[in-house]
Amino acid sequence: MIDVERQTIERDESKVVNTPPPNKSVTSACPVCGDTAQLKLLCKVDAFDIKACGVCETEYADSMPSAYELKQYYDRREWFEGGEPGGYQNYDKQTEWSLDLVTSLLAEFPGGAERSVLDIGCGYGTHLALAAERGWKCFGVEPSNHARGIAKQRLGGRAFVVEDTAELIPHEFDLVLILDTIEHLPSPYALLYSLFSIGAITAKTRVVISTPNAGSADAKRDPATWAYRHPPSHLVYYSERALTYLLQHLHFTTIDIRGTGPDNAGLLASASGSDFTDFMRERYVPGTWSKIAEYEHVPRYALAKDVVKGKTVLDFGCGTGYGAAKLATQAASVTGLDIDTAAIRWASATHRNDNLKFVCLADLGASLPAASFDVVTCFEMIEHVDHETQKALIASFARLLKPDGVMLISTPNPETTKLYGANPYHIREMNEAELHDLVSPHFSAVQILRQHVRAGVTFELGDNNAALRSSFISEAHSTSPDTALAFIAVCGQASLAPHQLASVFFDRGVDYISTFMSTQNTLTRTRLDLYLQSEVSANYQGQAQKYESLAKVYEKQTSEFVKQIAAYETQTIAFQQQAQQIAAEIAQTRTERNLALHEREQAKAETQDVRMAYHHLSQRRDIELSSPRFLLRQAYAAIKARIQQQLARPPTKVEFASQEAVTHEALAALMAHPPTLAGTKKPFACSLVIPTKNGGDLFKTVVAGLQRQTIWPNVEFIIVDSGSTDDTIAIAKAAGAECYTIPPSEFNHGSTRDFAIGKASSNKIVLTVQDATPLDVQMIEKLLSAFEDPEVVGAYGRQIPQPDADAITKRNLNTWLTGRTVREVRALPDPAAYDTWPPMERYLASNFDNVCSAIRKSEWEVRPFGRVDFGEDIEWAQSALIRGRRIVYEPTAAVVHSHDRPIAYEYKRTYVCHRKLNQLFGLHMVPTLGRAVQGWLHMMISDMGYTMRAKVPLATKIKLLAKLPALTAMQILGQYQGAKDHLDKSQKKISGV
Ligand SMILES: [Zn+2]
Repeated sequence: MIDVERQTIERDESKVVNTPPPNKSVTSACPVCGDTAQLKLLCKVDAFDIKACGVCETEYADSMPSAYELKQYYDRREWFEGGEPGGYQNYDKQTEWSLDLVTSLLAEFPGGAERSVLDIGCGYGTHLALAAERGWKCFGVEPSNHARGIAKQRLGGRAFVVEDTAELIPHEFDLVLILDTIEHLPSPYALLYSLFSIGAITAKTRVVISTPNAGSADAKRDPATWAYRHPPSHLVYYSERALTYLLQHLHFTTIDIRGTGPDNAGLLASASGSDFTDFMRERYVPGTWSKIAEYEHVPRYALAKDVVKGKTVLDFGCGTGYGAAKLATQAASVTGLDIDTAAIRWASATHRNDNLKFVCLADLGASLPAASFDVVTCFEMIEHVDHETQKALIASFARLLKPDGVMLISTPNPETTKLYGANPYHIREMNEAELHDLVSPHFSAVQILRQHVRAGVTFELGDNNAALRSSFISEAHSTSPDTALAFIAVCGQASLAPHQLASVFFDRGVDYISTFMSTQNTLTRTRLDLYLQSEVSANYQGQAQKYESLAKVYEKQTSEFVKQIAAYETQTIAFQQQAQQIAAEIAQTRTERNLALHEREQAKAETQDVRMAYHHLSQRRDIELSSPRFLLRQAYAAIKARIQQQLARPPTKVEFASQEAVTHEALAALMAHPPTLAGTKKPFACSLVIPTKNGGDLFKTVVAGLQRQTIWPNVEFIIVDSGSTDDTIAIAKAAGAECYTIPPSEFNHGSTRDFAIGKASSNKIVLTVQDATPLDVQMIEKLLSAFEDPEVVGAYGRQIPQPDADAITKRNLNTWLTGRTVREVRALPDPAAYDTWPPMERYLASNFDNVCSAIRKSEWEVRPFGRVDFGEDIEWAQSALIRGRRIVYEPTAAVVHSHDRPIAYEYKRTYVCHRKLNQLFGLHMVPTLGRAVQGWLHMMISDMGYTMRAKVPLATKIKLLAKLPALTAMQILGQYQGAKDHLDKSQKKISGV
């Protein structure tokens, strides 16, 4: 605020024109309302006069330090941490109180949209840190190098912190904080105008100001010793009224001011709704626009000051009134006229002088009396109206002027304004000729001055530059002392006159405006670039931090996973051990279960045995029963009989005692060894094995014959059925047989019998077939009787043809080996020599037939039948004989068994029979085809003769005779081919025999 230059000028001029002021107060103006008339000295603090404004209640230190001095003052760390008067002992601690305030302020803004905050005098950046944490875009202004350095260090890229508002980018903020800062500023307007000029504060911006309360009781009690009155750090002291004045003056419409702290020691103002940005864009307010605007506007009034001295002046289009106020310092009276009420209101509130008045009129001055002004000034106005209005205006000015009056009117040069860009408020700008054309109709003398802004060099005599009176002195606050470039001594015996020495040198070669504009544009662009870069780098920094923290999280997770994996591994090992244990237990359980199943099967079998045994016992009344139950019953019956005897003849005492003792003894013995079912088990006399398949009615007859066997209840009956579709199995079951079934394809004369014998429990196995009927009730017993000789391992019985068999079949069977009536016990005297025997002899020695046979299981276990298609019986007998065993032919054991075979079957049977015989004994009865024909003829003739002699009905005889040639042919051919095929190693598969 201190502008030594201006004060000097004013003092100089006042010396020339006005009476000297009564005290210094008139030389300064209120920093808030600009008043100069109602200022009073409130007190003195150190070297400072403290003034109080009678208009707006603002108090301030007069003779303020320059901005340069202030900068030096605040750049030091000591002010923030040194405990100086007016400074801080510990900045962070002493500003802590404001953190809650800022936190709650930030919370008042709804989230979602990206918010931005500007903190003026942001200090160490503690407020911005809070906002940054909440995602706000953060900007700070901090002139102190020390504090700004710390703020930048702490905030990093999270905030854009600059030294001066001029470095800010044009941006509209949601929140502007001016906390405990405004009292440090010589003028609040320099700051606020700069913010409005870049659009930082708009109608929706909320401005929050905190400052010590100069209206508090504490401040009023003794103004000089008030704790907050410490210039040069605190320079302006605001009461509620002063703050209100300031905010209203800046067009804030919503203003809330309240006292804070004990006894309202502080003030907190919240203001919004200001349209001042728009206001100052349309109207020139000194200090708000650029230097160029200042160079355009202010010097015109400086020029006019010489013209208006002591005159009656009309300032037409006065706007905010700064020019009228300037003229009023020289003129007798000044009337400021404007069409805009807001401007007139601003002008009236800002500029006070007894010879100055502002009027709002929209009639181009028509309502004002004619010839009432000596001078009419109209600057920066005529270009805002159209050509017609311009002409009307000039006419009006001519009317209002006294005959010797002077009109000063300006218009911008379109050649220059095009550098500024489009201006929507300018309707008609004029060049020099056009301006001349506009005014010349009403004025005979027209002189047109060309206004230049130039780079200049002056020579001045000390600070007394009266010779340069008309030169323009900047209204702006200088940021540095007005330092001379060099000094020039003018020497002689007498001083030269000041006007001789005062000189101004202008450089016409510099286009100041275009250079300035271009520099300005470049600066703005650079600031924007700088900001964008800082934003980008802040984003990267933020992302880097985010990734860093993410990396930490992942690291932590990873280590947790590693721990978990280790835990799982341990668990897995434990589970594996458990699994092994369980598997072992399962295996154990399985073994136990199998054992149990086995035992159950055994128990079942035993139960069955017992049941069978009991059944047999109950049926066999003729044999000696020795079962415990029988014995018990017998004992009981005996006791009962004795008791009856005793009842009939009462026993003597001795007898009774003896009998009683015996009875007791018997009962006790019985109780000590109770009968069990297992104890009743009795082995079968033999096991009877029959392979079956669709046995038909004949099988029923066969089974009935078997059941009639005297030994029957003591026979284990086993059948192996290979696919019966009739009631064969049912018949067997009804006779108490154990029935096993095998698929038809599995049937084999050797292995199927082996299978059944494997099931047998007796050592004596009786083998017969489903179509061999026992001749009598002792067939089995007679077969088994052969085993009385321990050397005998097999016995076979006689086969008797069916009564209805044909004569040839009967003859063949009866004359064959199984038709003989003499018992035979066969053994090889020298088994080693057996191989040397002729085939037929070997064959005859080995003869054996499972149609009716019995074998020892113990021998079978040594040598089972094996998988043999045909002749398994002969093969087995041969093997037994070679091992030195005995075979018995028992003709008294007989079955009725014969086949009336079809011719084709006869061939097949003979074929396999002789193939087997050749295999076993080398038998080759029909070695050649020639012998076959001979044999056939011999056999046919012989059979035919036998048939003719047979005692059979003639029809049967003829039928048989007709069959004989083919039948005998088949038999001979079968003998020939069977042996031949064995010799040729031909493996023809023959089934159905
Ligand atoms: Zn004031």
